[in-house]
Amino acid sequence: MIEEILPNIYRIEVPLPANPLKSVNSYLLTSETRNLVIDTAFNQPECLEVLSQAYEEMQIDLDKTDFFSSHLHADHQGLIATFARPGAKTYMGKVDALRVEDQSGWKKMLKYASMSGFSREALQSAVKNHPGHKHGPERSVEWDHVGEGDIITIGDYTLKCLETPGHTWGHICLYEPHQKIVFSGDHILGDITPNIQVWSLDDDPLKSYMESLTKIAALDVKLVLPGHRSLIHDCRKRVDELMTHHLHRCNEVLDILKSGSQHAVQTASRMTWDIKAESWDHFPLMQQWFATGEALAHLRFLENKGFVSQEISSDDVLLYSLVTGQGILHSMN
Ligand SMILES: [Zn+2]
Repeated sequence: MIEEILPNIYRIEVPLPANPLKSVNSYLLTSETRNLVIDTAFNQPECLEVLSQAYEEMQIDLDKTDFFSSHLHADHQGLIATFARPGAKTYMGKVDALRVEDQSGWKKMLKYASMSGFSREALQSAVKNHPGHKHGPERSVEWDHVGEGDIITIGDYTLKCLETPGHTWGHICLYEPHQKIVFSGDHILGDITPNIQVWSLDDDPLKSYMESLTKIAALDVKLVLPGHRSLIHDCRKRVDELMTHHLHRCNEVLDILKSGSQHAVQTASRMTWDIKAESWDHFPLMQQWFATGEALAHLRFLENKGFVSQEISSDDVLLYSLVTGQGILHSMN
């Protein structure tokens, strides 16, 4: 369960019960003065037990331990509130930290979800079951905001904060230039593709995500340490694969829209998903939610590229159609 990656850098794989992500990678960097934990897991007893045991085994003094969360999702920061002792640094990208503090985001998200084709009952159940609500921190954390170029030093390691919006608005990767390693959070994953969703009228997270991928691909990287699943040795190859994946997804959406004007839940239900279920109606509601957010991110990207147009129906639902005369999308740039 505890694996030493480099001297004083350990990976602790924390299982996420009944979650398709399966587990989260929590990294522990130790030094004689302070330790740093990069991402925890959900605030769930099973996760708490695994991490507590690991800290005990490693004889980690929590009074000398700081915490960094790559982004606001509860599977990365849910347990920081539990472990952080008074005086500990708790780092998060400024943009995400402000979102955590501003709870009005939920309301806006729900309004947008109802305009995307979700029923009222589905929405109520989605809020109740959303991991952000179910497995969020036990108390609010006073985040130490970080941004582009900020440095966190632990022992011999110098971690540079790189703003990488896309998966969330304020996602931060940590780059160690001497060892050429990147702690990539959910920005770059190896075995699964990071979920890119939009739930507002004014964001284009897929465009931001592409720019953030290009930013990491420009670095000299030997090893990527992601937030989930296995480590990545060829960073540029993985970035290329992720870009190609989204190009295919965009063209899949364009193909689906050939059948006529539709809302985002309809588009999502016609896309292909790597989920074990007989049909869209058998998808667990939360998976329908994430899939629709992902469909919306592609629709928004295509809309801004001039391939798709959007109109509001008389019952306040957003409908998407193909713009005539456009062919297929050839690149994500
Ligand atoms: Zn995430």
